[in-house]
Amino acid sequence: MKHFIGLVALPLLLGSLSQDVIAQKRPFTWPNGKKMAISLSFDDARNSNVEGGTALLDEYDVKATFYLVPENAKRRLEGWKKAVAKGHEMGNHSLNHACSGNFVWARKNPLEDYTLEKMRAELIETNRQIKDMLGVTPTTYAYPCGQTFIGRGKNTQSFVPVISDLFVAGRTWLDEAPVDPTYCDMAVLTGMETDGKSFEQILGTIEDAKKGGQWLVLAGHETAASGPQTTRLDVLRKICEYAKDPANGVWIAPIGEIAAYVKAARDSMNIPEMVTANSRNELLLTAEKGKGIGPKIAYMPEWKAFGWFTANDRVEWEMEVPKSGKYEVQMEWSVDDKTAGNTFVIESAGAKLNGTIDKSGSWETFKTKSLGHIQLKAGRQKLTFGSNSKRENNGLLDLRVLKLVPVK
Ligand SMILES: [Zn+2]
Repeated sequence: MKHFIGLVALPLLLGSLSQDVIAQKRPFTWPNGKKMAISLSFDDARNSNVEGGTALLDEYDVKATFYLVPENAKRRLEGWKKAVAKGHEMGNHSLNHACSGNFVWARKNPLEDYTLEKMRAELIETNRQIKDMLGVTPTTYAYPCGQTFIGRGKNTQSFVPVISDLFVAGRTWLDEAPVDPTYCDMAVLTGMETDGKSFEQILGTIEDAKKGGQWLVLAGHETAASGPQTTRLDVLRKICEYAKDPANGVWIAPIGEIAAYVKAARDSMNIPEMVTANSRNELLLTAEKGKGIGPKIAYMPEWKAFGWFTANDRVEWEMEVPKSGKYEVQMEWSVDDKTAGNTFVIESAGAKLNGTIDKSGSWETFKTKSLGHIQLKAGRQKLTFGSNSKRENNGLLDLRVLKLVPVK
């Protein structure tokens, strides 16, 4: 709601307003008009990566991501140092390449016997060793054998939360779908195999991903003329040629670089998402994570807020309440003095909180205040914020955040 300010500014503001509405509905876009993104990645720090692989990539100025096991990288340290200098990304592929004991070679130290604490400690140690060796700290991870679980049966635990905590992104292996940038979990990016494939096979996957504007994360091991677990150099050359031809609309870059772009783009987009509590048991219901429902409700990325235009507009959040009890509701909002004074209602699982929207000074001035208390039950539920009257047609407010703070 930025359009009741003055006649002179009105056309300009209406212009930006209609852009806001479009921005809310506009799908995710890649930079510079690209139609899709591709990342190349290679696991284990195989010698062939720096004995042929990087030289070919460097011919095309294509940067890839290499997931290192530190012990393996030590065998060709000079080669890896050169790869870093050329701008390739060095990722973390764990300390000992632990996988399920179903791989007989992994049975001495299988994932089935891990704890989350041991996993976390080893991942931090791996980053430390790579930093020591190569001067860079990995920000992305590739799951050895693509496996994301530790333990067995009822005691199985996912270590995806550990990856989410320590890295910008994590990549799995032998997946069958490319990454959808607006939907994906950054800690579980799908990785599609290049080993043993012809260029024609990979081209089919690229074209499918391009139709959906997706991010194709390719994954392989050796980079050589032939052999097992090998992405063939002639195939790699054709991928580079294809990706570098501007007519094909491809952005090819390492996983960390594209992950950073996707993350920043998503941060300014409205993508409804389940809200979970922080370490203080507070729930931060931001406009980015809320779902706008109603005839004219609009998410405004430059304000990171929802704007209300009619009494039928509302915003709904999905949230996981950590414990039953009384919560203080704090609101960050803006409204001009003329529009202020309308009534709102917050509802969640039968509990209600009513009130009046106070002045904030102007549409551009956001303020924070406590609205009062609401009684919530633990568990997953919806919370909605809307108008408490059907008579209001001049809007309600711009809402940026509702923060729920447990009352002791
Ligand atoms: Zn591996």
